[in-house]
Amino acid sequence: MNMISSVLHLVAKPFFSSAYSCGGNSTKATSGINGANTKSQKALGIEDSVELFSSDCLKGGAKKPELVKVLATNSGPDCDWLMDVFGLDLSLVVSRKKSAYS
Ligand SMILES: Cc1cc2nc3c(=O)[nH]c(=O)nc-3n(C[C@H](O)[C@H](O)[C@H](O)COP(=O)(O)OP(=O)(O)OC[C@H]3O[C@@H](n4cnc5c(N)ncnc54)[C@H](O)[C@@H]3O)c2cc1C
Repeated sequence: MNMISSVLHLVAKPFFSSAYSCGGNSTKATSGINGANTKSQKALGIEDSVELFSSDCLKGGAKKPELVKVLATNSGPDCDWLMDVFGLDLSLVVSRKKSAYS
């Protein structure tokens, strides 16, 4: 770290992030994204639904059904958006023990 970045780090860090490095847990997330009714699922003939995803979230301990509804409803279109706009390859679909598909 050179002098300028050291100074910037010391001055800016308390205002922007409590962590040593930027990005928080979002920079660690690598294994998958949950989505209901994604185009990858449709291409593989997998039937899924917003209701099933919501039910998984609530069974998993989610405490705010209104937030779960937004998450589950948007999850499929959001995955499609990541693929369409950023060219992410989210074609691999797996079913995990505790949730339906991701
Ligand atoms: C190892 C690991 C792997 C994961 N893999 C996946 C995955 O594959 N798929 C998936 O969907 N999810 C995964 N997750 C979960 C996912 O990373 C988190 O749910 C998601 O990143 C949360 O995003 P966020 O924006 O809420 O928080 P973050 O991305 O953590 O951002 C919060 C930011 O706020 C800062 N902050 C916190 N408190 C303060 C404060 N008091 N003052 C200033 N700044 C503060 C933090 O430093 C951080 O930069 C994983 C998590 C971990 C730890």
